[in-house]
Amino acid sequence: MDVPEEPRAFRYDGEVEPGEKRHLRYEVSETYLGDPVEVPVTIINGDEPGPRLCCTAAIHGDELNGVKVCQELAARYEPGDVRGTIVIVHVVNVPGYQAQQRYLPIYDQDMNRSFPGKAKSNTAERMAYAVWEAFVSKCDLGLDFHTSTRNRTTMYHTRADVSNPAVERLARAFGASVILSGGGDEGSLRGAATVAGIPTVTVEMGKAHRFQPLLIQKALDGVESVLAEYDMVDGSVDWPGWWRIVDPADQKAWLRADRGGLVEMQWGPYPLVRAGETICTITDHFSRDEHVVEAPFTGLLVGVLENPVALPGHPLCHLVGLNEETTDEIEAEIRSGEFDGYRANGTVWHRGEEQH
Ligand SMILES: [Zn+2]
Repeated sequence: MDVPEEPRAFRYDGEVEPGEKRHLRYEVSETYLGDPVEVPVTIINGDEPGPRLCCTAAIHGDELNGVKVCQELAARYEPGDVRGTIVIVHVVNVPGYQAQQRYLPIYDQDMNRSFPGKAKSNTAERMAYAVWEAFVSKCDLGLDFHTSTRNRTTMYHTRADVSNPAVERLARAFGASVILSGGGDEGSLRGAATVAGIPTVTVEMGKAHRFQPLLIQKALDGVESVLAEYDMVDGSVDWPGWWRIVDPADQKAWLRADRGGLVEMQWGPYPLVRAGETICTITDHFSRDEHVVEAPFTGLLVGVLENPVALPGHPLCHLVGLNEETTDEIEAEIRSGEFDGYRANGTVWHRGEEQH
Protein backbone atom coordinates (compact mmCIF):
# COMPACT_ATOMS: atom_id res chain seq x y z
CA MET A 1 0.00 0.00 0.00
CA ASP A 2 1.45 3.35 -1.03
CA VAL A 3 0.99 5.91 1.69
CA PRO A 4 2.03 9.40 0.61
CA GLU A 5 4.23 11.56 2.74
CA GLU A 6 1.99 14.58 2.43
CA PRO A 7 -1.72 14.74 3.18
CA ARG A 8 -3.77 14.70 -0.01
CA ALA A 9 -7.17 15.89 -1.09
CA PHE A 10 -9.82 13.21 -1.63
CA ARG A 11 -11.25 13.69 -5.11
CA TYR A 12 -14.51 12.22 -6.32
CA ASP A 13 -16.40 14.67 -8.52
CA GLY A 14 -15.71 17.18 -5.80
CA GLU A 15 -12.71 17.51 -3.56
CA VAL A 16 -12.34 17.13 0.20
CA GLU A 17 -9.21 18.79 1.50
CA PRO A 18 -6.99 17.41 4.26
CA GLY A 19 -8.45 18.51 7.58
CA GLU A 20 -11.99 18.54 6.18
CA LYS A 21 -15.00 16.40 7.04
CA ARG A 22 -17.86 16.44 4.58
CA HIS A 23 -21.31 14.89 4.55
CA LEU A 24 -22.68 14.75 1.04
CA ARG A 25 -25.24 13.11 -1.16
CA TYR A 26 -23.93 11.64 -4.38
CA GLU A 27 -26.22 11.07 -7.34
CA VAL A 28 -26.08 7.54 -8.71
CA SER A 29 -29.35 7.25 -10.66
CA GLU A 30 -32.80 8.75 -11.20
CA THR A 31 -36.33 7.76 -10.28
CA TYR A 32 -39.14 7.35 -12.84
CA LEU A 33 -40.01 10.95 -12.06
CA GLY A 34 -36.53 12.10 -12.92
CA ASP A 35 -35.65 12.88 -9.32
CA PRO A 36 -32.09 12.10 -8.31
CA VAL A 37 -31.28 8.89 -6.44
CA GLU A 38 -28.56 9.97 -4.04
CA VAL A 39 -26.25 7.94 -1.85
CA PRO A 40 -25.34 9.47 1.55
CA VAL A 41 -21.58 9.65 1.98
CA THR A 42 -19.27 10.98 4.69
CA ILE A 43 -15.63 11.71 3.98
CA ILE A 44 -13.30 12.36 6.89
CA ASN A 45 -9.97 13.50 5.50
CA GLY A 46 -7.33 13.56 8.21
CA ASP A 47 -4.90 16.35 8.86
CA GLU A 48 -2.07 13.89 8.39
CA PRO A 49 -1.37 11.47 5.53
CA GLY A 50 -2.29 7.81 5.66
CA PRO A 51 -4.30 5.10 3.91
CA ARG A 52 -7.90 5.39 2.80
CA LEU A 53 -10.48 3.08 4.32
CA CYS A 54 -13.85 2.64 2.61
CA CYS A 55 -16.82 1.47 4.71
CA THR A 56 -20.00 0.47 2.88
CA ALA A 57 -23.41 -0.66 4.10
CA ALA A 58 -26.84 -1.64 2.78
CA ILE A 59 -25.72 -2.98 -0.58
CA HIS A 60 -28.63 -5.20 0.40
CA GLY A 61 -31.26 -2.62 1.26
CA ASP A 62 -32.78 -4.31 4.32
CA GLU A 63 -29.48 -5.03 6.11
CA LEU A 64 -29.44 -2.30 8.70
CA ASN A 65 -26.83 -3.09 11.35
CA GLY A 66 -24.11 -1.74 9.06
CA VAL A 67 -26.08 1.44 8.42
CA LYS A 68 -25.96 2.15 12.14
CA VAL A 69 -22.25 1.32 12.22
CA CYS A 70 -21.71 3.90 9.45
CA GLN A 71 -23.78 6.55 11.22
CA GLU A 72 -21.72 6.05 14.38
CA LEU A 73 -18.41 6.10 12.49
CA ALA A 74 -19.35 9.32 10.74
CA ALA A 75 -20.05 10.97 14.09
CA ARG A 76 -17.10 9.48 15.94
CA TYR A 77 -14.08 10.58 13.90
CA GLU A 78 -12.82 14.07 13.10
CA PRO A 79 -9.99 15.00 10.73
CA GLY A 80 -7.75 15.78 13.70
CA ASP A 81 -8.13 12.16 14.89
CA VAL A 82 -7.18 10.44 11.67
CA ARG A 83 -4.10 9.84 9.55
CA GLY A 84 -5.44 9.22 6.08
CA THR A 85 -9.08 9.18 5.05
CA ILE A 86 -12.24 7.38 6.10
CA VAL A 87 -14.84 7.17 3.34
CA ILE A 88 -18.28 6.05 4.53
CA VAL A 89 -20.97 5.10 2.02
CA HIS A 90 -23.88 4.83 4.44
CA VAL A 91 -26.40 3.24 2.06
CA VAL A 92 -25.27 1.83 -1.28
CA ASN A 93 -28.60 0.44 -2.48
CA VAL A 94 -30.85 3.44 -1.87
CA PRO A 95 -33.94 2.15 -3.75
CA GLY A 96 -33.76 -1.16 -1.87
CA TYR A 97 -33.28 0.68 1.41
CA GLN A 98 -36.30 2.86 0.80
CA ALA A 99 -38.39 -0.22 0.03
CA GLN A 100 -36.72 -2.14 2.90
CA GLN A 101 -35.82 -5.01 0.67
CA ARG A 102 -32.65 -6.79 -0.28
CA TYR A 103 -32.50 -6.21 -4.02
CA LEU A 104 -33.10 -3.23 -6.24
CA PRO A 105 -36.90 -3.11 -6.51
CA ILE A 106 -36.60 -2.87 -10.29
CA TYR A 107 -36.22 -6.41 -11.65
CA ASP A 108 -34.83 -7.62 -8.32
CA GLN A 109 -31.25 -6.92 -9.28
CA ASP A 110 -28.59 -7.78 -6.70
CA MET A 111 -26.16 -4.90 -6.27
CA ASN A 112 -23.71 -7.27 -4.63
CA ARG A 113 -23.40 -9.14 -7.93
CA SER A 114 -22.95 -5.93 -9.94
CA PHE A 115 -19.49 -4.65 -9.00
CA PRO A 116 -17.36 -3.03 -10.29
CA GLY A 117 -20.26 -2.11 -12.54
CA LYS A 118 -20.46 -0.54 -15.97
CA ALA A 119 -21.44 2.91 -17.17
CA LYS A 120 -23.65 1.49 -19.95
CA SER A 121 -25.41 -1.50 -18.50
CA ASN A 122 -28.43 -2.38 -16.36
CA THR A 123 -29.60 -0.23 -13.46
CA ALA A 124 -27.70 -2.11 -10.75
CA GLU A 125 -24.43 -2.09 -12.66
CA ARG A 126 -24.73 1.61 -13.41
CA MET A 127 -25.35 2.42 -9.77
CA ALA A 128 -22.53 0.14 -8.67
CA TYR A 129 -20.26 1.82 -11.21
CA ALA A 130 -21.07 5.27 -9.87
CA VAL A 131 -20.22 4.23 -6.28
CA TRP A 132 -17.15 2.32 -7.44
CA GLU A 133 -15.72 5.11 -9.54
CA ALA A 134 -16.29 7.94 -7.09
CA PHE A 135 -15.42 6.22 -3.81
CA VAL A 136 -14.46 2.55 -3.61
CA SER A 137 -11.78 2.64 -6.30
CA LYS A 138 -10.15 5.64 -4.62
CA CYS A 139 -9.51 3.71 -1.42
CA ASP A 140 -6.82 1.31 -0.18
CA LEU A 141 -8.92 -0.92 2.10
CA GLY A 142 -12.57 -1.87 2.37
CA LEU A 143 -15.05 -3.10 4.96
CA ASP A 144 -18.48 -4.05 3.64
CA PHE A 145 -21.21 -4.58 6.25
CA HIS A 146 -23.95 -7.17 5.81
CA THR A 147 -26.46 -9.21 7.81
CA SER A 148 -28.35 -12.36 6.93
CA THR A 149 -31.31 -12.04 4.64
CA ARG A 150 -34.76 -11.68 6.27
CA ASN A 151 -36.16 -14.59 8.27
CA ARG A 152 -32.68 -15.83 9.06
CA THR A 153 -29.85 -14.76 11.29
CA THR A 154 -26.12 -15.02 10.96
CA MET A 155 -23.36 -15.54 13.44
CA TYR A 156 -21.02 -12.56 13.81
CA HIS A 157 -18.12 -13.33 11.47
CA THR A 158 -16.10 -11.99 8.57
CA ARG A 159 -15.60 -13.38 5.08
CA ALA A 160 -12.24 -12.82 3.52
CA ASP A 161 -9.89 -14.30 0.95
CA VAL A 162 -7.16 -15.10 3.45
CA SER A 163 -5.01 -16.68 0.72
CA ASN A 164 -4.20 -13.03 -0.05
CA PRO A 165 -1.87 -11.80 2.75
CA ALA A 166 -3.09 -8.21 2.49
CA VAL A 167 -6.68 -9.38 2.99
CA GLU A 168 -5.68 -11.65 5.84
CA ARG A 169 -4.01 -8.71 7.61
CA LEU A 170 -7.22 -6.68 7.33
CA ALA A 171 -9.44 -9.57 8.46
CA ARG A 172 -7.27 -10.31 11.47
CA ALA A 173 -7.14 -6.63 12.40
CA PHE A 174 -10.94 -6.41 12.32
CA GLY A 175 -10.87 -9.10 14.93
CA ALA A 176 -14.02 -11.20 14.49
CA SER A 177 -13.39 -14.55 16.11
CA VAL A 178 -14.48 -16.51 13.06
CA ILE A 179 -13.18 -15.72 9.57
CA LEU A 180 -14.71 -17.74 6.74
CA SER A 181 -12.07 -17.95 4.09
CA GLY A 182 -12.76 -17.83 0.38
CA GLY A 183 -12.94 -15.50 -2.58
CA GLY A 184 -16.06 -13.37 -2.94
CA ASP A 185 -18.84 -14.18 -5.37
CA GLU A 186 -18.52 -12.84 -8.90
CA GLY A 187 -19.66 -9.23 -8.86
CA SER A 188 -19.57 -8.83 -5.10
CA LEU A 189 -18.04 -5.62 -3.83
CA ARG A 190 -15.57 -7.64 -1.76
CA GLY A 191 -14.50 -9.78 -4.71
CA ALA A 192 -14.24 -6.92 -7.20
CA ALA A 193 -12.36 -4.64 -4.83
CA THR A 194 -9.93 -7.34 -3.77
CA VAL A 195 -9.21 -8.22 -7.41
CA ALA A 196 -8.59 -4.51 -8.05
CA GLY A 197 -5.93 -4.46 -5.32
CA ILE A 198 -8.14 -3.04 -2.58
CA PRO A 199 -8.16 -5.64 0.19
CA THR A 200 -11.78 -5.89 1.32
CA VAL A 201 -13.56 -7.92 3.96
CA THR A 202 -17.27 -8.61 4.37
CA VAL A 203 -18.63 -8.33 7.88
CA GLU A 204 -21.67 -10.53 8.55
CA MET A 205 -23.66 -9.50 11.59
CA GLY A 206 -27.05 -10.71 12.78
CA LYS A 207 -30.40 -10.06 11.21
CA ALA A 208 -31.96 -7.86 8.56
CA HIS A 209 -34.45 -5.16 9.60
CA ARG A 210 -32.90 -4.64 13.04
CA PHE A 211 -30.36 -2.63 14.94
CA GLN A 212 -28.57 -5.05 17.28
CA PRO A 213 -26.59 -2.83 19.66
CA LEU A 214 -24.01 -5.32 20.85
CA LEU A 215 -23.14 -6.43 17.34
CA ILE A 216 -22.93 -2.80 16.26
CA GLN A 217 -20.57 -2.08 19.16
CA LYS A 218 -18.43 -5.07 18.23
CA ALA A 219 -18.19 -3.82 14.65
CA LEU A 220 -17.24 -0.31 15.79
CA ASP A 221 -14.49 -1.85 17.90
CA GLY A 222 -13.43 -3.80 14.82
CA VAL A 223 -13.14 -0.64 12.73
CA GLU A 224 -11.15 1.07 15.48
CA SER A 225 -8.84 -1.92 15.55
CA VAL A 226 -8.38 -1.75 11.75
CA LEU A 227 -7.56 1.96 12.00
CA ALA A 228 -4.95 1.15 14.66
CA GLU A 229 -3.45 -1.68 12.60
CA TYR A 230 -2.81 0.67 9.66
CA ASP A 231 -1.61 3.47 11.94
CA MET A 232 -4.57 5.67 11.01
CA VAL A 233 -5.33 6.32 14.69
CA ASP A 234 -3.35 5.99 17.89
CA GLY A 235 -4.25 3.02 19.98
CA SER A 236 -3.77 -0.66 19.74
CA VAL A 237 -5.18 -3.49 17.74
CA ASP A 238 -8.06 -5.12 19.58
CA TRP A 239 -7.27 -8.79 19.12
CA PRO A 240 -10.18 -11.02 20.01
CA GLY A 241 -9.72 -13.50 22.82
CA TRP A 242 -9.67 -16.18 20.18
CA TRP A 243 -10.14 -16.44 16.45
CA ARG A 244 -10.15 -19.15 13.86
CA ILE A 245 -9.91 -19.13 10.12
CA VAL A 246 -12.42 -21.62 8.83
CA ASP A 247 -11.75 -22.89 5.37
CA PRO A 248 -15.08 -24.11 4.08
CA ALA A 249 -13.63 -25.53 0.88
CA ASP A 250 -14.26 -29.09 1.97
CA GLN A 251 -17.69 -28.99 3.45
CA LYS A 252 -20.20 -26.21 3.42
CA ALA A 253 -23.90 -26.65 3.03
CA TRP A 254 -27.23 -25.03 3.36
CA LEU A 255 -29.28 -27.85 4.86
CA ARG A 256 -32.74 -27.79 3.35
CA ALA A 257 -36.09 -29.08 4.51
CA ASP A 258 -37.36 -32.17 2.73
CA ARG A 259 -40.92 -31.65 3.86
CA GLY A 260 -43.30 -28.90 4.86
CA GLY A 261 -44.13 -28.26 8.50
CA LEU A 262 -43.26 -26.50 11.70
CA VAL A 263 -39.58 -26.14 12.49
CA GLU A 264 -38.18 -26.38 15.98
CA MET A 265 -34.49 -25.69 16.43
CA GLN A 266 -32.82 -28.17 18.78
CA TRP A 267 -29.16 -27.29 18.54
CA GLY A 268 -27.33 -25.37 21.17
CA PRO A 269 -26.51 -23.69 23.35
CA TYR A 270 -23.35 -23.36 21.25
CA PRO A 271 -23.24 -23.10 17.47
CA LEU A 272 -20.95 -26.12 17.17
CA VAL A 273 -22.64 -29.37 16.13
CA ARG A 274 -21.14 -32.83 15.81
CA ALA A 275 -21.96 -35.14 12.93
CA GLY A 276 -25.23 -36.91 13.68
CA GLU A 277 -26.46 -34.42 16.25
CA THR A 278 -29.99 -33.11 15.85
CA ILE A 279 -30.15 -29.59 14.46
CA CYS A 280 -33.91 -29.25 14.25
CA THR A 281 -37.16 -31.12 13.83
CA ILE A 282 -39.96 -30.55 11.36
CA THR A 283 -43.40 -31.69 12.48
CA ASP A 284 -46.84 -31.67 10.96
CA HIS A 285 -49.66 -29.72 12.62
CA PHE A 286 -51.14 -32.84 14.25
CA SER A 287 -47.76 -33.75 15.81
CA ARG A 288 -48.08 -37.18 14.24
CA ASP A 289 -45.10 -37.00 12.02
CA GLU A 290 -41.73 -35.73 13.18
CA HIS A 291 -38.78 -35.45 10.85
CA VAL A 292 -35.37 -35.05 12.48
CA VAL A 293 -32.69 -33.05 10.67
CA GLU A 294 -29.22 -34.17 11.70
CA ALA A 295 -25.86 -32.59 11.07
CA PRO A 296 -24.33 -34.47 8.13
CA PHE A 297 -20.87 -33.47 9.31
CA THR A 298 -19.26 -31.69 12.26
CA GLY A 299 -19.31 -27.95 11.85
CA LEU A 300 -20.22 -24.46 12.86
CA LEU A 301 -23.73 -23.10 12.29
CA VAL A 302 -23.08 -19.72 10.72
CA GLY A 303 -26.63 -19.04 9.59
CA VAL A 304 -30.01 -20.35 10.63
CA LEU A 305 -33.67 -19.99 9.79
CA GLU A 306 -35.71 -17.79 12.09
CA ASN A 307 -39.14 -18.02 10.53
CA PRO A 308 -40.31 -21.36 11.97
CA VAL A 309 -42.23 -22.74 9.00
CA ALA A 310 -40.69 -24.62 6.12
CA LEU A 311 -41.47 -25.96 2.68
CA PRO A 312 -39.53 -28.71 0.92
CA GLY A 313 -36.34 -27.06 -0.32
CA HIS A 314 -36.45 -24.29 2.25
CA PRO A 315 -33.01 -23.54 3.76
CA LEU A 316 -32.84 -24.41 7.45
CA CYS A 317 -29.26 -23.62 8.33
CA HIS A 318 -25.86 -22.91 6.88
CA LEU A 319 -23.32 -25.37 8.23
CA VAL A 320 -19.60 -24.96 7.66
CA GLY A 321 -17.52 -28.07 8.18
CA LEU A 322 -14.67 -28.03 10.66
CA ASN A 323 -11.67 -30.28 10.72
CA GLU A 324 -10.87 -32.20 13.87
CA GLU A 325 -8.21 -29.74 14.99
CA THR A 326 -10.42 -26.66 14.68
CA THR A 327 -13.30 -28.50 16.33
CA ASP A 328 -11.07 -29.31 19.28
CA GLU A 329 -9.90 -25.69 19.50
CA ILE A 330 -13.44 -24.36 19.48
CA GLU A 331 -14.52 -26.92 22.07
CA ALA A 332 -11.65 -25.73 24.25
CA GLU A 333 -12.92 -22.15 23.84
CA ILE A 334 -16.36 -23.34 24.86
CA ARG A 335 -14.94 -25.05 27.96
CA SER A 336 -12.98 -21.93 28.87
CA GLY A 337 -16.21 -19.91 28.82
CA GLU A 338 -15.66 -17.92 25.63
CA PHE A 339 -19.08 -18.93 24.35
CA ASP A 340 -20.96 -18.51 27.64
CA GLY A 341 -24.16 -16.65 27.14
CA TYR A 342 -24.52 -17.64 23.53
CA ARG A 343 -28.07 -18.79 23.18
CA ALA A 344 -29.57 -21.67 21.38
CA ASN A 345 -32.45 -21.73 18.96
CA GLY A 346 -30.82 -19.64 16.36
CA THR A 347 -31.62 -16.24 17.70
CA VAL A 348 -28.42 -14.96 19.19
CA TRP A 349 -24.77 -15.77 18.91
CA HIS A 350 -23.39 -12.84 20.75
CA ARG A 351 -23.11 -13.09 24.47
CA GLY A 352 -25.56 -11.23 26.60
CA GLU A 353 -27.63 -9.89 23.77
CA GLU A 354 -31.28 -9.39 24.48
CA GLN A 355 -33.66 -11.48 22.48
CA HIS A 356 -36.31 -9.87 20.37
ZN1 LIG B 1 -25.97 -8.75 2.39
